[in-house]
Amino acid sequence: TLPILLHWIIYRKAASPPLSTFVLLGPSGAGKTAFLSLVESSSLYKAKTPSHSTHTSQTSTSTTVTLPPSVPIFSNRYRSVNDPSLPDAKRNAVKYVLRDTPGHGKLRSAQLTQLQTELSSKSKKEASSICGIIFFVDAASLVEGAENLRDYAGYLYDILLVLQKIVLSKGKLSKKAGTNFPILVAANKQDLFTALPPGSVKQKLESEIDRIRQTRQKGLLDASANPEHDEDGEEVLGGDGDKFTFHGLEDDIGVKVDVVGGFAKAENEKDGVSATGIRKWEEWIGSCL
Ligand code: GDP
Repeated sequence: TLPILLHWIIYRKAASPPLSTFVLLGPSGAGKTAFLSLVESSSLYKAKTPSHSTHTSQTSTSTTVTLPPSVPIFSNRYRSVNDPSLPDAKRNAVKYVLRDTPGHGKLRSAQLTQLQTELSSKSKKEASSICGIIFFVDAASLVEGAENLRDYAGYLYDILLVLQKIVLSKGKLSKKAGTNFPILVAANKQDLFTALPPGSVKQKLESEIDRIRQTRQKGLLDASANPEHDEDGEEVLGGDGDKFTFHGLEDDIGVKVDVVGGFAKAENEKDGVSATGIRKWEEWIGSCL
């Protein structure tokens, strides 16, 4: 019976689907590390596994964490596990993975390449476990100057362009039928009175992305007037014509962007650390699981 038992164990291990992964992106200083440590400190389970990229010398860190039992899960929405009247211990703590990435400007293209490789894998065996992206924004820095806004919008533009390329070549990105691929723009540092509210963050990002798009479109037109121009591989985000909006992007390529405010700074309370500032983001994660 031992070989049968071993076979059963190995088979079980291989058959269990990988945990849903959310990739944390955004310029450094936005609050990714603060968010991760807050999630870890309130998680019932945590395990860190450094994952080494095979394409670059960069490392990203994957951490398995749990969602607080009081946060509803989309796939469990009809079950009693979400019944708020039940004590926490009676409800399931759902595990997921957060993958932190270095946000320094020079490392961005490597991260985008890795994201593209993973998400565009066609084989079922290598199918990506990435089920969403969380893009961190320091909402307090956006009022300080146009340069910060340009940096954030430029990074987000590049991410969206990667997703558009995959959708155009491979088709839908979302793994769940009838849903769109989710991106959370976490408008962080809402505890500071100088922080822009999420609605303004959304509006500013949309108009800056629109500006970037126009500039790139013009660049391509100018370049294509040159007979020696090689058009291969150059694209612009969104169809030509209308002003860029996240809503339009959802219609075009099935990528849904939500801008949600919060703060990744722990509030010190008598009985430990309170993570109220990240609650809405955890609810967003729960709605994708
Ligand atoms: P990362 O580079 O994206 O990982 O950013 P960090 O998590 O290292 O955060 C950068 C700085 O912002 C640190 O000094 C954090 O303490 C601070 N910070 C992060 N989140 C918040 C927040 O919600 N509110 C405030 N006031 N500061 C924050």
